[in-house]
Amino acid sequence: MGIIKIEVEDILTLKKSHPCGSRQWKVIRLGTDIGMKCIKCGHFVMIPRHKLEKNIREINRKGCLLKPVEVIIEVE
Ligand SMILES: [Zn+2]
Repeated sequence: MGIIKIEVEDILTLKKSHPCGSRQWKVIRLGTDIGMKCIKCGHFVMIPRHKLEKNIREINRKGCLLKPVEVIIEVE
């Protein structure tokens, strides 16, 4: 799979895990920083776009699992 653009509501599986043990985050807000909520503990973080793009392993969109080679996050 090639390049994928992130959308709000996507569930991202990251390479690094949160201290609570979960690797999955739900995208809440797109911008220069991306707002995401931990699926397990509900913790909210803002992460710089370029940093997040490198850290994404999988994307779950409406039940479909996407495994991108590269992830692009667009700012509107
Ligand atoms: Zn967590």
